[in-house]
Amino acid sequence: MRTVETDILVIGSGAGGAVTAAALSAAGRSVTVVEEGPWVDPDAHEPLSLDEMVAKYRHRGASAALGAPPVAFAEGRCVGGSTEINSGLWHRLPPDLSEEWRGRYRIEDFTPSTLDRYAERIEAELTVSKLPGAPPPSSAVLERGAIKLDWRAVEFARVVSYDGSGRGTKQTMARTLIPKAVSAGARLIPDCRVVKLLREGDRVVGARCRRHPEDGFVEDLTIRADHVFVCGGAIHSPALLQRSGFRANIGPGLKLHPTIKIAARFPHPVDHRDVPMHRITEFAPNLTIGGSASRRGHVAMALAESSAEHAKDMDGWEHIGVYYAAIRSEAAGRVVAVPGLRSPVVTYRLTEADLSRLARGLIHLGEALLAAGATELYPSVTGAPVVRRPDELAGWWDTVTRTRANLMTVHMTSTVRIGEDRSRTGADSYGRVWGTTNLRVNDAALLPDAPGVNPQAAIMAIAARNCDHFLANA
Ligand SMILES: Cc1cc2nc3c(=O)[nH]c(=O)nc-3n(C[C@H](O)[C@H](O)[C@H](O)COP(=O)(O)OP(=O)(O)OC[C@H]3O[C@@H](n4cnc5c(N)ncnc54)[C@H](O)[C@@H]3O)c2cc1C
Repeated sequence: MRTVETDILVIGSGAGGAVTAAALSAAGRSVTVVEEGPWVDPDAHEPLSLDEMVAKYRHRGASAALGAPPVAFAEGRCVGGSTEINSGLWHRLPPDLSEEWRGRYRIEDFTPSTLDRYAERIEAELTVSKLPGAPPPSSAVLERGAIKLDWRAVEFARVVSYDGSGRGTKQTMARTLIPKAVSAGARLIPDCRVVKLLREGDRVVGARCRRHPEDGFVEDLTIRADHVFVCGGAIHSPALLQRSGFRANIGPGLKLHPTIKIAARFPHPVDHRDVPMHRITEFAPNLTIGGSASRRGHVAMALAESSAEHAKDMDGWEHIGVYYAAIRSEAAGRVVAVPGLRSPVVTYRLTEADLSRLARGLIHLGEALLAAGATELYPSVTGAPVVRRPDELAGWWDTVTRTRANLMTVHMTSTVRIGEDRSRTGADSYGRVWGTTNLRVNDAALLPDAPGVNPQAAIMAIAARNCDHFLANA
């Protein structure tokens, strides 16, 4: 078996892994990044297409947290991780949340000003900007609905750089921090899954990996390292740690933003190329209203989830956009690695209060869409009626049940929470796994709770802060 030696092993190349690799290699450390998924040219696939799902998503986009109702979720599995497939919406961690988490979990150096300093640094490095011109119709719908109802709405900045003609390019990790790490000397090994970490007492001395590139030649590999950063995301980081014998507070406490949808028909065509940039923030952070991917397939799926007369209702699909209401949920889930299974089992049990929040979110979303001029609303609730007027919306209230609501999420966090309170956390304030001297987690798993906003900015700011702490101390 081939053995590779490195100072620092980074497992996973998404939002957390790319920041880690770029920061540590820029400081002159010898870094090896191992990524389970393939390298995929960021321009090779039409964004939001089926081709893209096959090439870049884990399980081609079909994963679910088991429960009643189940919550479907999606993750990236390629160099750049979920940043290659996400919408790039950028929102710093709200200061009241960082203050709350700092107190509750006793997290050192976690003030809003510290996190803002790191967020600013990353924003300058990646280019985070707003649209140079007017929003597309799918996004303007949200702004229009909010204005009519006298609710707050904002255009979110995105991790997108615009050229002189207004054409935007999403600044994914495969376009930015991964090439930066490689030019600073980092070695990138795609198509390579870390199966297990190798332990010697309180140290991790490396990892056992399996390379499986597209040509089909499988290679088992041992990577020996002085320091290991696990950045596989909130589902796969705890699974790898559990497979390697680390279990204390590793895997429980999973948080999601459960999301319910409406397919809304308008009298005018809606653009389908991009995801809307506007959000209705009137009820944030506990409830956020926004727009989803709305390609033909997404519209068909959304109509199917509502039990619409699918074939008939797809007529004029160009006039239909898909929108969502996402909640901060009081429930928690769990990630459990099962011997013999490649992927962990993920569970999440919504509370009754969560279901009420989702019902309220669905009705508010319906109000906004009707106020914006929608003529027909199809909710992602099996058998719920199609709504055409505001006075019909209340009829949805009793339909959002465990057996009828169709939910999804793309934000998973909190399976290895940070903080000095060892009874509630899996890692110290800077991501070092309790009971180890040289094993760190540096990704979405560290957030102590769901942030109520898109999480990439918070994940990257916390990861950059942890790297500075590591460089100053190790
Ligand atoms: C469709 C979609 C849209 C989204 N939209 C937004 C948005 O607009 N704004 C926002 O802020 N957030 C958004 N998100 C969420 C955001 O992208 C994630 O929260 C963030 O990327 C998580 O970062 P991470 O480093 O924890 O994990 P990821 O970015 O998912 O990276 C983890 C990487 O680790 C690899 N890996 C896992 N296990 C192993 C292993 N054992 N060995 C080797 N490699 C491994 C995976 O293959 C993956 O590439 C979206 C997510 C999705 C899926």
